[in-house]
Amino acid sequence: MILPINIYSDDVLRRKARPLKGVDAEIVELVESMFESMRNASGIGLAAPQVGHSLRLLVLDVSCVSKYEDEKPMVVINPHILAVRGSSEMEEGCLSVPGVQGDVVRPSFIMLKYRDEHFEERIGEFSGMVARVIQHEIDHLDGTLFVDRLEKRDRRKIQKELSALASGVVNAAYPVVVREVVPTSKTS
Ligand code: ZN
Repeated sequence: MILPINIYSDDVLRRKARPLKGVDAEIVELVESMFESMRNASGIGLAAPQVGHSLRLLVLDVSCVSKYEDEKPMVVINPHILAVRGSSEMEEGCLSVPGVQGDVVRPSFIMLKYRDEHFEERIGEFSGMVARVIQHEIDHLDGTLFVDRLEKRDRRKIQKELSALASGVVNAAYPVVVREVVPTSKTS
């Protein structure tokens, strides 16, 4: 099922998501829907809060990116970054912040402890695009958006776009949840 994506100013994107205790039928269905919604929106990563579930769960599939064709789709539950190394800058975007891009500096290598789709504990080492996407999605689980990590100068450049999104003006090629703009008038 394609789920609508929550946009920039939505509270669920600013909350710290809670860990999963296991994988039941409901979670299996959510994971399937997250993959479907991500691909429908031409995304390469999606975190559960972006579809309204405040859970420490994310999916990614970077196989559509050149040089990453062999990468398998991944389900990451309750992730903990154990170690990081290096630093690289890359342009990022986000399905929850449509129409906005910016350069973000992140570690280029991560060692990650997490649980997979069967809730089996795993430790993996990731670099390049995969490390980038995992870190971007883990940020979502902690209520952080990539625009929070932009340099001040770059952030000023997108302020107009962010204000538009915050006021409910969203132009996306996929279903979104547009928050009702609270009227400022005191008359009811
Ligand atoms: Zn994102």
